[in-house]
Amino acid sequence: MDITRVVSGANGLLSNTYLVQAPAGVIVIDPPMLRSDARAVRARLEELDQPLAAFVYTHPHPDHVNGATEIRGGTEVPVYATAATDQVSREIDAPKRAFWTPIFPDDYPAVTTFATHLTADGDVVDIAGLRFTVHDIGAGECATGALWVTGDDAFIGDLAYSRAHPWLFEGRSARWLEQMALAEPLLAGRRLYVGHGEPGGPELLEEQRRYLLAYRRAVGELAGGRDALDEAAKRRLAERMDAVWPGAELADLVPMSADAVAAELAA
Ligand SMILES: [Zn+2]
Repeated sequence: MDITRVVSGANGLLSNTYLVQAPAGVIVIDPPMLRSDARAVRARLEELDQPLAAFVYTHPHPDHVNGATEIRGGTEVPVYATAATDQVSREIDAPKRAFWTPIFPDDYPAVTTFATHLTADGDVVDIAGLRFTVHDIGAGECATGALWVTGDDAFIGDLAYSRAHPWLFEGRSARWLEQMALAEPLLAGRRLYVGHGEPGGPELLEEQRRYLLAYRRAVGELAGGRDALDEAAKRRLAERMDAVWPGAELADLVPMSADAVAAELAA
């Protein structure tokens, strides 16, 4: 089975979209956020010479959902997600659009394509002739997430980033660590197709765990029990996290998430 990875631009947070060539067509896993990146995915899809068969959303963040509207271009295509992912997608749709549209007025999609086929933890679903097992792993980086496993390949969304600084803005670093412990036995020996950065093996989970522990330690020391960091402390935090993953992408997310994690630790 061929899997093509298409990486969105920096404005789209360098998210990965995977084009999975199933027997009956191409499954697009995690379409990018912006219309321009979605058009690039569409162009790659057309080169594959197989019809678009379905979308899968691993979790509800816009950089893994929103480009579906542009990619499907008015055709009806089944969209798979867990019921939890669909619920959060609908809840965050209006506030995310209100936030992003002024920043990318022509590039943020005007309409979101929501899931049409809802799944639950433990479901086995046949999509375009490929059998996926779905594991709902609950909250972590995002309010909810799932693993979509087919054979030795696992599409894990943002359970782990691969050498890209993660989004901790939602202040659930402790829950994320618990989520990784829950997911680890389900992913042993599999190839992990992550939401950001290069796919890899289970070592990506260990690297993410080390990163989260280092981030929590650094924020805890720099905040000293307070629920926010001043600008100087945020710069020190950025330096400390660059030392953990030197030169990693998405470095802007490090100071952006600092107050959320300081508040989480202070609570
Ligand atoms: Zn993401």
